[in-house]
Amino acid sequence: MTVRPIRYLGDPVLRKPAKKVRRIDDSIRRLADDMIESMIAAQGVGLAAPQLGVSLRLVVFGLPGEEPWSLINPVIVRRAGERRLDEGCLSVPGYRAPLTRSMRVTIKGLNLDGKEVRFREEDSVLAQAFEHETDHVNGTLYIDRLDSKDDLVKLSDLAPAAADQSDT
Ligand code: ZN
Repeated sequence: MTVRPIRYLGDPVLRKPAKKVRRIDDSIRRLADDMIESMIAAQGVGLAAPQLGVSLRLVVFGLPGEEPWSLINPVIVRRAGERRLDEGCLSVPGYRAPLTRSMRVTIKGLNLDGKEVRFREEDSVLAQAFEHETDHVNGTLYIDRLDSKDDLVKLSDLAPAAADQSDT
């Protein structure tokens, strides 16, 4: 596994709707491994392939201390409720902003064996990451969803505890 550099805001790959994964081969498995390694190195809880410069619909998730996993061709199949939360992105380093996301989120996709899998999360950091990473493969960034760009907060202006939250 290799840690690959994360692409930042301004890189066109982040704005391109990514292509569906048609065949799960060794290159996809290697990419998924590298994504997990890169996510962990960046202390994120989720990462999408475009963030490593690869325009494919592949995302990974992982909470600290838990087994990370990958999801191919992710689709949000159900959202319910709303909640206000604070969000950041590894591709927009140094900033966070308040945002409205869904309370309950069900995501489906394929695992690396090509089997369809579903995950349902409620009011959790993973529920947030499901929406955030699915946005990424559609070329959307969380900053597009802000009421105003003035909502962006520079981390250097925050207390260290608030600046320490996970990005995706
Ligand atoms: Zn992100």
